[in-house]
Parts: sequence; C-alpha cells; structure tokens
Amino acid sequence: MILVLNQELFDAALFFLDSRFPDGADGGCAAMKCASGKILISTKVPNKNESAVLCHETGAIAEAWKLGEKVVASICLSRKNGEKPVVFSPCGLCQERLMVFCNFDFSEASDIEIAVPDPENKCGFLVRKLSELQPYYWRNVKKY
Ligand SMILES: [Zn+2]
Repeated sequence: MILVLNQELFDAALFFLDSRFPDGADGGCAAMKCASGKILISTKVPNKNESAVLCHETGAIAEAWKLGEKVVASICLSRKNGEKPVVFSPCGLCQERLMVFCNFDFSEASDIEIAVPDPENKCGFLVRKLSELQPYYWRNVKKY
C-alpha cells in the first residue's frame, strides 16, 4: 500500500510550523493533502475563552470545503518549549468534521489517512485510516 500521508506532508507541516512559530516557539499546525495534490495548512486560533478556540485542523477543513477539495490525508504537529514537535491525533470533533466536510462520499472519508502518535516509531507516528480511529462511528449504523 502506497501511503498518501508521507514525508512530503510531514515536511510541509514542519516548514509551516518553523515559519509561523520561529526559533522553536510553542505552536502547532495541521497539514492536509487533497486528492488534487494540493496541501492545505492551518493553525489553532487560541482564545482566552476555551470554548471559542479553533483546533489546528479547523482552517484546513474549512478551506477544503470552500475549494471543493477531497482531503485524503491529515497530520497535526504540536511543539512546546522548543522541543521536537509531536504528532497529535485529531480530536473527536475534528474527526467528525473530516468525516463530514472533507469528502463527498462517506466510504471515501473513512479511508482518509490520519497520522497518530507512536513514540516508538522512528518518525514519531503511524498512519491509520479515519475509520480506524472510530471503530464504532455513529454513522456506521445507517449510512447517511
Ligand atoms: Zn479538533
């Protein structure tokens, strides 16, 4: 199986992270690869009111929807205290957004490749399908 989520997508995320948050500053981002080959990148929008925070993934998901792009892979990086960035899995809400907004066919969305953390792996992550993150996803009951 040839993965869409590869070094190119990781490097794009890291390049953005180092550009937007230079000198090892705290920050993060999500990079998403589209079926067209386009890479969309966004970052968290912080807020003193936690309920108003937008996740790293939110901007890229909205951009994909705006452009009519199909997301096929996603990776999220976060860095604190100048340390090496770590991979974050998308939160439950972003998993739902990916499932609903980033593809136009339910079964295709299930196949979106997602980077999940794996400290034992040399690159710090593994690739799993979106459906593997939610084996009991609510829409599996009835395909809406
Ligand atoms: Zn999220």
